[in-house]
Amino acid sequence: MSSTSSEKQILGLHHVTAIAGDPQSNIEFYTRVLGLRLVKLTVNYDDPDTYHLYYGDKLGHPGSILTFFPWPNAPRGIRGTGQATTVSFLIPENSMQYWKDRLKENYVKVEEQGKRFKNEEEFLTFYDNDDLKLELVSTGSNTRSAFTPWEKSPVPEQWAIRGFHSVSLSEEGYERTASLLTDTMGFRLVDQEGERFRYETGPGGASSYVDLLCQPELLRGEVLVGTVHHLAWRTPSDEEQKAWREDVIKAGCNATPVIDRRYFHSVYYREPGGVLFEIATDPPGFTVDEPEEKLGSSLRLPPWLESSRKQIENALPKIELT
Ligand code: ZN
Repeated sequence: MSSTSSEKQILGLHHVTAIAGDPQSNIEFYTRVLGLRLVKLTVNYDDPDTYHLYYGDKLGHPGSILTFFPWPNAPRGIRGTGQATTVSFLIPENSMQYWKDRLKENYVKVEEQGKRFKNEEEFLTFYDNDDLKLELVSTGSNTRSAFTPWEKSPVPEQWAIRGFHSVSLSEEGYERTASLLTDTMGFRLVDQEGERFRYETGPGGASSYVDLLCQPELLRGEVLVGTVHHLAWRTPSDEEQKAWREDVIKAGCNATPVIDRRYFHSVYYREPGGVLFEIATDPPGFTVDEPEEKLGSSLRLPPWLESSRKQIENALPKIELT
């Protein structure tokens, strides 16, 4: 019999966290242009003078959550190795033209359109207001089971973003990262095309992919405005999270203790190529401190910061929720 810890599986992406500049412009881009829901308005628990903005589907299902720390006065970062350099969203089949038109109408910088993996996957590369590199991906076959449309989205449900498709990591050399993914974290190599190596985890399909891009010619990345800070992988329970923590430590990574992030519990470690990984629990989720219909409508603080609310609110830049 194999042990419980060898049967555990990472279920896919939980969330991706990036650095933005101006919070208002970030809110408008992700809610009005991309049609995601702001599911939580809170602060960075490690730096409470900074907002933490969470976007996702109606409920903020794991696998749909893109979050930002807005640093309005910080310079642009460098997109480069040791970073997640592209965040890709899944869109429904036959919706590419809708999105091309929508991005154009909203003056979004669109860079490239193409196909990957024997033409099975169509992608459109574009940038948010802070130059964060994003993609829309249509595959024809992948649908997400845990997706709840947000009925107030400006994007009609038939075209709506279905959560993440994948995240691409730029690496100077990919072997040690690949080995952590397959030998320790249970990922499987499923495809390769040029410099791109695709791995999947858990049930496979959209939101379970990570693409390693072997790009030694790129500069080393610098995490500032317009770059990804870290990405988080899903685990269903605290018990499995504890086992993952032990496994990655055995594999030579320095992992943090379990940290309470209110909506999930987190363990952080850096993979050998330099990208900051997190293992995050699915529970308790975003309805732990406000009801479903009110998600993201007011500033939520964890109990340990509630006594400093006045001071925190005064220090935060003013924003308008649209
Ligand atoms: Zn995180």
